[in-house]
Formats: sequence, structure tokens, C-alpha cells
Amino acid sequence: MKILVAVKRVVDYNVKVRVKSDETGMDIAHVKMSMNPFDEIAIEEAVRLREKGVASEIIAVSCGPQPCEETLRTAMAIGADRGILVRTDEELQSLAVAKLLKALIDREQPGLVILGKQAIDDDANQTGQMVAALAGMPQATFASKVEVAGDKATVTREVDGGLETLSLVLPAVITTDLRLNQPRYVTLPSIMKAKKKPLQTLAPEELGVDVKPRLKTLKVSEPPKRGAGVKVPDVATLVEKLKNEAKVI
Ligand code: AMP
Repeated sequence: MKILVAVKRVVDYNVKVRVKSDETGMDIAHVKMSMNPFDEIAIEEAVRLREKGVASEIIAVSCGPQPCEETLRTAMAIGADRGILVRTDEELQSLAVAKLLKALIDREQPGLVILGKQAIDDDANQTGQMVAALAGMPQATFASKVEVAGDKATVTREVDGGLETLSLVLPAVITTDLRLNQPRYVTLPSIMKAKKKPLQTLAPEELGVDVKPRLKTLKVSEPPKRGAGVKVPDVATLVEKLKNEAKVI
């Protein structure tokens, strides 16, 4: 069974991004970029499934500009067998990425498609769901445990107030949550080995997908600054303030 894993190049989670002065977006020129953390978890899970003998090949896919190649090399250093870069300089929105992934699913026929639950730059949390809808596959989002046996996957997912367990018929789409696994440390030999793994570059047109944005960002602004807190002397004052000042109880 093949596993297709989507990996996005995003601003590193340690970077504190700033809004551009003209409020047209974030200023991400010259900041450190890395693989979306949820996608590292996705690759790690695919590698564990291959180590268990469930999967035979892992294909990492990244959509975006040329530097996404580095993200694919990282995915291959973690353990992906090959990479596909869908290269475009167009601003990619979730629906465009989902259509590109659907076209690759048609080509590669994977048994499992794993994505992160969300990308930490746009926080959209929708590409996996869109891929499942476009490909007509069952989906389990926010997975915290995945088990595959035969043509079925059992997925435990984190929902409000507890854990839900789903049984899916493969091929299926899974999106990863933080507690699914702890990605392995990438060693120097694995980075060197990854440089020799095959990486194919495709244009969106070769996959028959029009990636033009369908949404327009009107404005990006900083959240309002938080005001200073006050210390109350006792519970009675707190309750009085919550009732009469904040009016929340
Ligand atoms: P989002 O719906 O944008 O929050 O992204 C959810 C997941 O979709 C990410 O964790 C990735 O697995 C995948 N994804 C989104 N954008 C891309 C992209 N440009 N290239 C590859 N994978 C992507």
C-alpha cells in the first residue's frame, strides 16, 4: 500500500510574525521557514506504518514555490521514499491544494492519504476535509491514534469532551493531531540519504488544476492589545465585578 503525505512549507513556529504596515498581509520576508509541525507528525506516522509492514511506499507532496523542495527533502530524511513538488508561485488556497492532491491521488492510487489537521500559517483546517470530499473517500480528522489492518483503519480522534473511535474502509484520508506521535530526530546520515531520493517536479497545469485564488484578503490587522489586569481583594468583589462590570454572570 502506498501512503501519500502532504507537507507544507510554513513560517517556523518559533518565529513571531508581524503584520505589514499597509495591512495587506504578514511580513514573512527573510524569516525562517520549516515543515508544518502537523505534517512532520503525518510523515512520522506513515514511516511507522511502513515499519510495521502496513505500507510499502511513502510519497511526500508539497505545493508551492521552488524552496518547498527543502521541505520535501526533510520529509525524505524522516523516511518518505520519494517526493513530488507541485511548483507554483501563485498564492495557494486550501481548495487549490485539495484539487492538486486529488489529481495526484488519481495518478498514484494511495491506500491512505495523511495530512496535518491544520497549517500553522493560515490555520485554515480544511484541506484534508476538502481532499476527502473531492476524492470521495472516508475521512478521520484530528487523529490521535491510527491502526491499520487489512482494508480498514481504526482511528481515535480528539473531539470536544473526549475521544471518538472510527472505523474507515481504505482508501481514506486522515489528518493528524498533536498527540498522534513524537516525530523522530532527523540524523545527518538520513539527511545525506534523502538528497539521493527521487524528487519529481510538476506544474499545476500538468495535473489539470487551475490554482488561481478564489478568495481575496481584504485586510490583516494586529489583535487589540490586552489591557492590564486588576487584583481583587476577595471573592465577593470578584463576583460583584463579574456581575456589574464585565456583565458575564
Ligand atoms: P490547512 O487546511 O491549510 O490548515 O492545511 C491542512 C493540511 O493540508 C496541512 O497540514 C498539509 O498537510 C496540507 N497542506 C495545506 N497546504 C499545503 C501545501 N501548499 N502543500 C502541501 N500540503 C499542504
